[in-house]
Formats: sequence, structure tokens, C-alpha cells
Amino acid sequence: MKVIRVNVSDGNIVHEAINVDSKFYRVGGRALTSLVVSKEVPPKCDPLGEKNKLIISNGLITGGSAACSARTSIGAKSPLTKGIKEANTGGNSAMILARQGVRALIFEGISDILRVLVIKDGNAELIPGDFLKGKGTYETAEILKEKYEEKIGVYSIGPAGEFKMKAASISSIDLEGYPSRHAARGGLGAVMGSKGIKAVISFPSKTSEIKFHDFDGFTKVARPFAKNLVETREKFSTYGTAIMIDLMNSLGGLPTKNFSSGSFDKIQNITGQKLIELIQERGGKNRLACSPTCVIRCSNLYNDKNGNHITSSFEYETIVMNGSNLLIGDLDELAQIDHLCDDVGVDTIEFGATMGVAMESGKIKWGDAEAVKSVLNEIRNGSKTGFLYGNGVVHAGTILGVKRIPQVKGQAISAYDPRVFKAMAVTFSTSPMGADHTAGAAIYGRKARADKNYGELIDPNMKIELSYELQIFTAVLDAIGCCYFIGPSWENMSYAANLLNTMYGWNMSADDVIEFGKEIIKRELEFNRQAGLSEDMNDLPEFFRTESSEPTGLTFNIRKEDLVSIWKKLEE
Ligand code: SF4
Repeated sequence: MKVIRVNVSDGNIVHEAINVDSKFYRVGGRALTSLVVSKEVPPKCDPLGEKNKLIISNGLITGGSAACSARTSIGAKSPLTKGIKEANTGGNSAMILARQGVRALIFEGISDILRVLVIKDGNAELIPGDFLKGKGTYETAEILKEKYEEKIGVYSIGPAGEFKMKAASISSIDLEGYPSRHAARGGLGAVMGSKGIKAVISFPSKTSEIKFHDFDGFTKVARPFAKNLVETREKFSTYGTAIMIDLMNSLGGLPTKNFSSGSFDKIQNITGQKLIELIQERGGKNRLACSPTCVIRCSNLYNDKNGNHITSSFEYETIVMNGSNLLIGDLDELAQIDHLCDDVGVDTIEFGATMGVAMESGKIKWGDAEAVKSVLNEIRNGSKTGFLYGNGVVHAGTILGVKRIPQVKGQAISAYDPRVFKAMAVTFSTSPMGADHTAGAAIYGRKARADKNYGELIDPNMKIELSYELQIFTAVLDAIGCCYFIGPSWENMSYAANLLNTMYGWNMSADDVIEFGKEIIKRELEFNRQAGLSEDMNDLPEFFRTESSEPTGLTFNIRKEDLVSIWKKLEE
């Protein structure tokens, strides 16, 4: 395996082999991206300047057959949080790159010249990218597939990334060929834009460079685990993440009207059940895998009334942050908003939160889907309005004079009301990644250990512990390249160890793997400290503590000192 460094300032490309002595030998995915950021990026540098680096890495076990193991981690110093960032995505590229023997790409320097990086047979070449200037990610994918071949892998940015807007995402094309999967959070699309990289394309190879220490042993570990996932995730496969919408509403934890309420009066129009009915009626698809080896297959493809494709990967967070949060109760409108976000290349969570503060300020009317879509076109055009809303919730909320800004460390809170989802709120407050649910997703009913009692959802007791454990186990899954929907649990740490041992001939125990997860987070926290994001910032905006959320009447009531000291346990 190797790492390819691409200096966009002088066009130099260097290949670094990963052998047993390499610093990259025991890292992949988030472990690799965070290692490079912490060792090679000055913590106080300008995230859009020449000292920041953008790293795209597949996981330690990507390239094998283990379930849901072909995820991509993308890392950099974040323009939104100013701290370390890893954003995770599906799509086809991670597997293609792994099979070519490429573990990671590291982009260094800065450039105004728009280019495309082409990876074929393990070789990399920068080519002019002006023919894609200003194009949305959908058109970019179409042009590239037509120019090269249908099955290429494509990461790309839309106009928002080219304009270096701080809510910009990086798209990855899914297995149907749509750029619907996004490394969305943290503004990494802006970092890619600052490097002048419009797209990274990779060509599938007939043979694989992936080597196994014990191929049969690996298969013996991977196969029964995959079988169990298929059996236990049946309902989730059918409905996808939207399965949670109705439940969240009934728990009173569905962000509504910029987090002023926890339930939505038009809920019946946006439930997972309704979504599936429309998908099936209109010839869309559910139960889709977003990346190779996925057996859970929670993704989907959503058509309009005439059977024409509107969007794919139409997910819980997008539907809620742009639906109930903005009082838009219409799945067709939300699908169009999702498509536009994906096409201009902005994070649907950051964007939905931003529209929430815009509506609260009175600048846009509640429930006005047309106005929301026109904002996305302003982002596409790079207008003054586009920059107002394309730079994230804090930027827009501050300029508009809004006091209730749902964010932590500069990044929007995702679609879980923190007053109800107490452990999720701990993750929002304490993750090195800012308010990112994927860093330790304490959804309803999730435990980090089957034998432990973490208390009721709304009970503050044990929630520090639950989030702490989930964050560590998630870091492990991010590092090996697995989707966290396989379960960031203590039980699955033995599974991860067995996969690593059979693949590499290592001798790791579950405890070693957990230690590995802790090391990732320690490194990230240290970068953040040096960047100026101290653990004193581990808290939610005041209004979550002072305003109760209806209908539950709950406030956020986990002590600030417990949030600040959560990571002290890493030293124990
Ligand atoms: S479980 Fe869902 S998000 Fe995870 S890899 Fe599969 S389709 Fe993608």
C-alpha cells in the first residue's frame, strides 16, 4: 500500500510506500487523517491557507469483504470549527483506491488553478479542471463518466467548494452513479476548493493490491458477522435512517422551528413510512448499498410524481433539519432541497440549521420552500446572499442578529433535540469534531455495551459514560473503514481486532483496539487545544439550558463541569 502526496502549489506528486516501518503502517481512515493533521498541520494556521492539508483515506480493512468496510475518511483543519475534522462518507471510490494499493491521498499547498486528480493503476496525474468550473456535482459526475468510463470513482466539490464557503461538502458518487454521498461536515469542501481540486477520479482495476496475512481466517470472521447484520437490520434496510422520524417526533425530540419545539404538526407528511410509500409508488428504490460490501443497504433513490429521479440518500438528518426544523412538511420539496444541497455541494445539516436562524430572524418566512431553494441557487452563483448563507449557521446567525444559534464550536447541531437526547447532547458538546452526531451517535436505545444500564433516554445519569464509550468505539470503526451502522459497541471491538489480526498478522486484543480508539481521540484533542479550542468550550448554547422544549418540558441538564472533564478519563 502507499500514500500519494500531491503538492498543488508546484504540481509535485510523491508516492510513499507503507511498509512495516512507515508511520502509516498501523493507521487508516480517521486514524490516518487525524495523524497527518496533528503532525503536519500547524494548529493555528488558516484552514484555507497553504499550510492546511486535505487527506482522503480509506480504512485499514477497506479492500476486503468485511461488511460495510469501504468508507472514506476525509480530514483537515476545519474552516468551521477551526479544529481538527474528519468527515466520513460512502461511495465507490474508497474500494477502487484500496484495490489500486492507495491507502490515502494527501493534498498540500494552495492553488487558484482548478484541476482534477486522476488515479489509475496506482499512478496519479493532475490534469486541467477548467472544463468543470462552476459545475454542480451532478453535472461534474456526468461529464467525467462520459469522458472516461461509467464505473469510475469520483470525489468532487460543487460551486460552494469552489467559492470556499465554509459549509461546503465533498461528494462521492454512490453505486448508482449519483453524487449523493457526502463528506459533509466541517466545511472540508472549502479546503478542497482552496487547493484548486475540483475532482478526484479513480479507475477500477481488474486485480487487487490488497494482501491478507490469513485470507481464510479473515473470511471466517467477516462472513457470520455480515449474516447477522442482514438478519438484525431488516427493518432498517427497508426504511433507512428515515425510520427514526416518527419515533423522534413521538419522543418529543424532533428539532422543529429552529429547535423551539420537539414535535411537528405535519409529521405524517414526512415519516419514513410515507417516504417508502412514495419511493415504491413512483419506481424509486430502497434497500440500496451506498458503497461496496455494505449488507445493511439503508440508502435509497427518490423519484418525482413522473418517475424522474430527484435525489438519492434521502436521509433522516436532511429531512428533519430542512423539514420540521423549517416547518416544511412536504417530501417532494425536501427532496429538491436535498438534490440542490448535493449539487451545489453544501452540508444539508449545516444548511438546514442556517435556514432555521434565517427564518427565526424573519429574513425568510417559516415553511417557505421556494425561498430555501432560491438561497441554494444564490450559493451556486456566489452572490452576496449566497455567501451569507453558505458559510454556516454561526456566520449567518451572527450577521442576522439571532440569539438562538444551534451550534457547538462553530458547527451546527444535528437533528436530535439535545434536551431529549441527553447522551447525543454530550457527543455534540464534547466531540473533538464539533456538534457532529456521527462521532458518537447515541440514538434511541443504543448502548455501548450490552451488559450495561445507561438509564432512560432523558435521564442525565450515565450519559457522559455512554457518549464517551460510543465516541471511542466510533473512532475505531472510522479508522478501519467501517460504517458506524454496524454498531460502535464494546462487543464489536473483538470483531475489529480479529479482522485486523487476520488481515495483517497482528496480535491485537479488544482492549488494544479500544486503546487505539483512545489514541485517535487524544491526538485530536491535543490538536484542538493547540488550535485554541479548549475543553472549556464543551457545552451547548445557553438556550438549551434555559428554554424548555415542548411537548416534553425538558431542558438540557448535564453539568458543564462534567462535559469539560469528560476526556480526563482517557488518562485513567
Ligand atoms: S449502512 Fe447505509 S450508510 Fe452505512 S454503508 Fe450501508 S448504505 Fe451506506
